[in-house]
Amino acid sequence: MTTLEQLNGSAARDVPAFVNTLHGIYEHSPWIPERAAKLGPFANITALKQALQGVVTGAERAEQLGLIRAHPELAGKAAIAGELTAESTGEQAKAGLNLCTPEEFATLQKLNGDYNAKFGFPFILAVKGATGKGLTRQQIITTFTRRLRNQPEDELREALRQIGRIAEMRINDLLGYTPAIGATIMEWAEEIGSWSEDEGALTCTFMTDAHRRTADQIAHWMREAGMHAHIDAVGNVVGRYLSTDPQAKTLMTGSHYDTVRNGGKYDGREGILLPIAIVKHLHEKGETLPFHFEIIGFSEEEGVRFKSTFLGSNAIIGQFDLNLLNLTDRDGVSMRDVLTQAGHDVTAIPKIARDPSDLLGYVEVHIEQGPVLLNRDLPVGIVTSIAGSSRYLVNLKGVASHAGTTPMSMRKDAAAAAAEIILYVEQRCGQDQHASLVGTVGQLQVPNGSTNVIPGACVLSLDIRAAADDIRDAAVEDVLKKIEEISQRRSVDVTIEKTVSAPAAPCAHWLMNQLAAATERAGVKPFELASGAGHDAMTIAKMTDVAMLFTRCGNGGISHNPLETMTADDAEVSAQILLDFLRNFKAKV
Ligand SMILES: [Zn+2]
Repeated sequence: MTTLEQLNGSAARDVPAFVNTLHGIYEHSPWIPERAAKLGPFANITALKQALQGVVTGAERAEQLGLIRAHPELAGKAAIAGELTAESTGEQAKAGLNLCTPEEFATLQKLNGDYNAKFGFPFILAVKGATGKGLTRQQIITTFTRRLRNQPEDELREALRQIGRIAEMRINDLLGYTPAIGATIMEWAEEIGSWSEDEGALTCTFMTDAHRRTADQIAHWMREAGMHAHIDAVGNVVGRYLSTDPQAKTLMTGSHYDTVRNGGKYDGREGILLPIAIVKHLHEKGETLPFHFEIIGFSEEEGVRFKSTFLGSNAIIGQFDLNLLNLTDRDGVSMRDVLTQAGHDVTAIPKIARDPSDLLGYVEVHIEQGPVLLNRDLPVGIVTSIAGSSRYLVNLKGVASHAGTTPMSMRKDAAAAAAEIILYVEQRCGQDQHASLVGTVGQLQVPNGSTNVIPGACVLSLDIRAAADDIRDAAVEDVLKKIEEISQRRSVDVTIEKTVSAPAAPCAHWLMNQLAAATERAGVKPFELASGAGHDAMTIAKMTDVAMLFTRCGNGGISHNPLETMTADDAEVSAQILLDFLRNFKAKV
């Protein structure tokens, strides 16, 4: 068995030995360990992986293409002829690619051919998957088919990332390393991810059977991990890992366990399961913390069933609006009835509110739900702020007239005005130097539109977000001004209705700094990014200082979708960072 000490020794004194030990990590490409050797010594296995993959992303394009082309096709000719490296043979066999049916084999050959013709290199996929246990042949074929539709530049980067993931698992094997906490988190997410109100998709909305079963299971895992656990009057699962000092204050963490319809397994759940796995680890070692550590599985964040978001976290901060109990779901059942039938006492909801003076702060771990960390080859990132958002509904009224008889100069085309607005939103929101400003027109309709009629009306939505309120406000002001100007010039009437205005929730620097220090110690360069999506931390920020750690999201950063994915290794790195953060936590002075 190779050790990290041996590798560090040879990186410093005997580079050929270092290259030789790592020769099987990157297929036929000794230049990668050769260049990485200069970056040693490596504080831990993550630092080694980051250094090696950094060489790959920093290489010349010709070298990157050479690396990609050094890989065999999946179930391709080399596999049949037995010409693969030992590593590739084992990985392809683990995914059962040596057991293809004739149909699957034919499909893969066709995909290999089409892929090579489009991109000019072989399809590369870490077939051992997110947990190292191997993808199914069906998953491989589905991924292959999906990636065949990618743009060439995107696919080149995806191929390099897959090579990085393959290398990561080969390094684990070489050093006899298992991401044990990460594997537990993945297993748990898989288990509750199979409990759904929709067949064949993950849907877990407020107080359904799947939702309550999930809550019970989370409470069970909390107790097994050595915590005191209960489910409160709005369905939040609350677990406390008590300090030996009864006077100690509480550090809070958590996230939500409800999902959108046909959602992903890690959105929200990671932020509950990861700290439970950490507490389990601490408890097994007989280690306590100098503060009470509270994990909350928030019952409701997404707002799917009752169209009202953040029910769980609003109850915790004492801002649960009791009028919401009268809201009804699509079957006409009220929230009050749903809670009562589940055995909850709605009169106890106000008592859920926490005393802010007992809290040290709140830290939430969440899957990024975007492509930023993925594109930077970073397993984690530190959130600077949860973006505030402004939403509007814009109604444009022109004149619907004959498409054949109305000259171009005499039209009042509402859709053409909308088109100009959309392009302006894109251009204006592309101007933020910190890149946290985003603007989207996600809904666009020409009511009663017809092929031969000039659009007389057009309705569009507007969604503008930014990490800082002044940046967002300035963009909103410019966009609204531009809408007026465009409508006037085109003689189109406009009405603008504000539907949402939520301020940004900045993360606390003193917490971010401690997360950054823990990230650095984990072998990862601390990287800051804003959160464009809303999170429970946004609500909790009204009560105490908050921070967030994002975990890299695979599959191009897709979320709120069954394709949402993360790896056991990234879950492990995130867990190690939170664990280190807890062990070194210093309260705000
Ligand atoms: Zn979420």
